[in-house]
Amino acid sequence: MKESIKIIKTTHSALKDFDFNNMPGFGSAFTDHMFEADYVDGKWGNFVIKPLQNLSMHPANLTLHYGQAIFEGMKASLSKDGVPMLFRPFDHARRLNKSANRLSMPSFPEEVFVDVLKQMILIDKAWIPPTEGSAMYIRPFMIAMDALIGVKPSLKYKLIVLLLPVGPYYDKPLSLRAETKYVRAVKGGIGEAKAAGNYAASLFPFMEAKKDGYDQIMWLDALEFKYIQEIGTMNIFFVIGDKVVTPATDGALLQGITRDSFIKLMKNEGLTVEERLISIDELLDAHKKGILKEIFGSGTAAVVANVNKLAIHDELIELDVTKYIVGPMVKNAMNKLRSGEMTDTFGWIDPIHEEVIV
Ligand SMILES: *Cc1c(COP(=O)(O)O)cnc(C)c1O
Repeated sequence: MKESIKIIKTTHSALKDFDFNNMPGFGSAFTDHMFEADYVDGKWGNFVIKPLQNLSMHPANLTLHYGQAIFEGMKASLSKDGVPMLFRPFDHARRLNKSANRLSMPSFPEEVFVDVLKQMILIDKAWIPPTEGSAMYIRPFMIAMDALIGVKPSLKYKLIVLLLPVGPYYDKPLSLRAETKYVRAVKGGIGEAKAAGNYAASLFPFMEAKKDGYDQIMWLDALEFKYIQEIGTMNIFFVIGDKVVTPATDGALLQGITRDSFIKLMKNEGLTVEERLISIDELLDAHKKGILKEIFGSGTAAVVANVNKLAIHDELIELDVTKYIVGPMVKNAMNKLRSGEMTDTFGWIDPIHEEVIV
């Protein structure tokens, strides 16, 4: 299926004013173009790549009042030979549709989604930062567009894609606090969806943790405050003894694509990986026995984020991240896959060749 995508290129590229040697912080710089599509009368249409511009909407727009909003986060990198490459784009397309389904929003055709990303990245290719470890961050999102004060699924939607040049992630080890008062998600809720509302609800507890000197929250299950779920915007891994353990996805965790990639990479390296319930007591116990070796987060933005401090109730686990082996191993493998230095035996890398533009 080849959908027709209208292309309107900018006549005022902002690229010449963009300093790749002095990039602004993550999330604040955008490329010249955006993609927009409208869902009207039960189908998607008006596919257009156009200069980045403001949206116009009625003040009664349903998204603003009742929060039908979901998003994705992914990256395109440059191979050694300068070919832009997507990472598991169809898995992101499927997850977008899974989130959409949970929020009673329409699916977007997966083939068109991936084709749109490829066309956009070729158009804004010069914006991909040349420095090692940097990338083009891709932010697709879907919002309701009906103007109505009434709690019901919208009939109209927009899917928009933004591109952001991002520098190498500065990897300072993280200090975490197990959150024992607030929760992120519960089975049956919307924790598996990349829904905007999940983030809104996390801001207050996050700011409280920050006030007490922590970088992030480690979320616990909502019923017993006992089992570990994930970090703010990342899934979590522990190396205990000679095994890698990560919480099983039970309906409340976001099913990270980086998480899934790590599990497959680790198994491929011969490591034993367990996806199961893991309690804070087990963790404290492992630490006391001296067998808790590593704690790290996984996510598209940081790839791996090492944790050097974890506060659980009145106890503090401190780890020496310079001794980590598994975290750096998977990070290195991911970076090598993304630069094309490691052969992709998993079928995750999707290179974008010029002939995509027809
Ligand atoms: C996006 C996200 C992740 C990580 O998912 P990736 O696909 O690995 O980027 C983890 N937890 C939450 C809450 C997220 O929103």
